[in-house]
Amino acid sequence: MLKPENKKIIVDAIREIPDFPKPGIVFKDISTILNNAEAFGLLMDHLRDRYKDMNLDFIAGIDARGFIFGAALARDLGIGFVPIRKKGKLPYTTISEKYALEYGVDEVEIHIDAFRGVKDARVLLIDDLIATGGTAFAAANLIDKSGGICVESCFIMDLAFLGGSKKLSTFTPVYSVLGED
Ligand code: AMP
Repeated sequence: MLKPENKKIIVDAIREIPDFPKPGIVFKDISTILNNAEAFGLLMDHLRDRYKDMNLDFIAGIDARGFIFGAALARDLGIGFVPIRKKGKLPYTTISEKYALEYGVDEVEIHIDAFRGVKDARVLLIDDLIATGGTAFAAANLIDKSGGICVESCFIMDLAFLGGSKKLSTFTPVYSVLGED
């Protein structure tokens, strides 16, 4: 459990930028968690405590902010980290998954050997924020297609009014550190 006073320190460390990257979006800037040693430390301690006994084999982080929290957590838990990247960034053979955006489609990819042949690898998916859930749903599908089991999807923040976490929870358990926003 995250103590209310510690949760407040993390919440207060998030900077909100109105109208970025386009009008009407309130961008949740987590760079101000990362440069705040107390907030970053409390967040990572909480994640380590939550996941240390879940027998995870890998953490998969979503491009790009999921890499930061995911890699730090993987190191804390003594397990491997796997990047799930936007199309065209991974150099080796990939598996890919398309997902719908408001206008058009996007695509995420994973290396075909990401889980090093571990049978039914237990994988935690992580990103900073879930909005419509399109990215995370595609990423969870990639874990599945690669032979892994997405044990849980973890986000620091959940813009629940957009319905993404509800949709994703039909496929994998969803955990949001700071609850619904
Ligand atoms: P979605 O696929 O709609 O759930 O979008 C999730 C991805 O977009 C995540 O990788 C987030 O980092 C990013 N994102 C979406 N909305 C915001 C927001 N308001 N503030 C910061 N990042 C966002």
